[in-house]
Amino acid sequence: MPKSIFTLVEQSVGKFRSFMSGNGKKKALIYQRREIPRDQHNVSRSVISEPAKKVLHRLNKSGYEAYLVGGGVRDILLGGIPKDFDIATNATPEEVHDLFRNSRLIGRRFRIVHVVFGREVIEVTTFRGNTTEADTDADDDRRTSEHGLLLRDNVYGNHEEDALRRDFTVNALYYCIRDFTIIDFANGIEDLRNRQLRLIGDPETRYREDPVRMLRAIRFAAKLGFDIEPETEAPIKELAPLLSHIPSARLFDEVLKLFSAGHGEATYDLLTRYNLLEPLFPETVRAIEAGEPDELIRQALRNTDARIAQGKSVTPYFLFAAMLWPALQAEWHRRQDNGDPVQPALHGAIGKVIGRQVQATSIPKRFSGPMKEIWELQMRLPRRQGKRAFVTMTHPRFRAAYDFLLVRENSGEIEPGLGQWWTEFQQADERRQERMLSELASDAPKKRKRRRKPAQRPPQQC
Ligand code: ATP
Ligand code: MG
Repeated sequence: MPKSIFTLVEQSVGKFRSFMSGNGKKKALIYQRREIPRDQHNVSRSVISEPAKKVLHRLNKSGYEAYLVGGGVRDILLGGIPKDFDIATNATPEEVHDLFRNSRLIGRRFRIVHVVFGREVIEVTTFRGNTTEADTDADDDRRTSEHGLLLRDNVYGNHEEDALRRDFTVNALYYCIRDFTIIDFANGIEDLRNRQLRLIGDPETRYREDPVRMLRAIRFAAKLGFDIEPETEAPIKELAPLLSHIPSARLFDEVLKLFSAGHGEATYDLLTRYNLLEPLFPETVRAIEAGEPDELIRQALRNTDARIAQGKSVTPYFLFAAMLWPALQAEWHRRQDNGDPVQPALHGAIGKVIGRQVQATSIPKRFSGPMKEIWELQMRLPRRQGKRAFVTMTHPRFRAAYDFLLVRENSGEIEPGLGQWWTEFQQADERRQERMLSELASDAPKKRKRRRKPAQRPPQQC
C-alpha cells in the first residue's frame, strides 16, 4: 500500500456517536468521514472483476449510489486478490432486482440480491441502518432476542449508517467507481496500516448482536495475519458459548469458510486459544481434553492449506472426517472397552458422533454420507487379500479414504507402511498387482483360533 494513502483529505467534521456498551455504560466513539483520492491509494479498476464493475456502473447510471465494500476493497488495499466482490447501494433490494435480469432476491435475516454472472456472484446489499443504537424494541423490521442477538435487520439507512453497522473497521471501506475515491467512516485505513482488526462500536454489544463476528475475527486474523485489537479481543473467550444460539446450518457454513481460506492450521490454533472450537466441535474438544491426540486434525489442515495454495479444491466431508476423528476414536474405544466387537463398535460410534455433532453444526446428507464411508473404509484398507483390494479400489470414496489413511500415518497415529502399499498398488500393472497380493498372502501369519478379549483397544491399524 503506498504511503500517500494516509495523507487523508478530511471531508466533514468529526462526529460523536454514543453506543450502549455491554455493562450499560455509554461510551463515546468518534467516527468521521474521510475520502482518499485516486492518487493516494492503490485500488485500480483493473483488479476489480468485470461483473462487479458492470453492476457498479449500471446502478450509478440508474441514479443510485453504489460502492464496492468489504473484502473486495480491503484485500486489494493489502495487495491481494479478493475472494469475491460485495457492493453496497442506496437502491432497495427490489430496485436492484428490477435492474438485473440475472439476479435473485435472497435471505430472510438480511434481504440481499445476488447478481449472477456464470460462476461469479456479486452480492448487492442495500445500505442498512445503525444497529448499535438501543432503539430496537418497537421496530418491526429489526428484532433482537433476549441475548441481544439480532434476529432480523431490514432497516435501511444512509451511507454512514451502513458503514457503522459493519463488523470490523477494515471491512467498512468503500470504493467509488465514479471518482475512484475510497471512503472511510471508521478509521479503517489506519487499522489496515497497523494490521489490526477492530470491531466498530462496543465489542461486547456487537458480539452479542451476532456471535458469528467472533468467528469472523479469527478467520480474518488468520487469513490476513492481523492482530485482534485488545478491546475487540477481550470479550471473546467469555462470550464464545453464545455461538450455541446460532442456527447449526449457519455454523456449518462458517466452519467451511474458516477452514477453506488456506490458513486452516493457524485458524485451528486461534479457535482453540479463544474457546471457540468448543461450540463448533464440542465432542472433539471433549475427546482431546480426555487425552485423544489432535495431531491428525493438524496434519489434515496442513494438507488442506497446501492444497489450497496449489489452487486445488477441498472437500467438506474430508474436513469434517478429520475434525471429528478424535471424537470418533474416543467413542469407538469406549464401546470396545464395554465389550462391543470392533465393527459394531465403529458403526455405533459413527452414529453417536454424527448425531451429537449436528446439534452444533449441521452436516448436510451429501457430506455426512461420504464422511461415514471414509471412516468405514479405514477398516477395509488393511484387508487386501484375494479380490478385496480390487473391490475396495472401486469404491467411490476409495481415493478420499486412501488420502485419509496417509494423513493418519503422517500424523503418527499408525505405523507407516499400509499407505505406501496402496500407493504402489494403484500405480502397478496387473502382473505386479498380482505379485503384491501373493506376497501379502505368504507374509500373512497363519490363522489361529483366538478367544477375543472383551476389553481391548481397537487394533492400531484401524
Ligand atoms: P471475504 O469475502 O474475504 O470472506 P468479506 O469481508 O468480504 O471477506 P463477507 O462475508 O463477504 O466478508 O461480507 C462482506 C461485508 O459485509 C464484510 O466486509 C462486512 O462489512 C459485512 N459483514 C459481513 N458479515 C457481517 C456481520 N456478521 N456483521 C457485520 N457486518 C458483516
Ligand atoms: Mg466478501
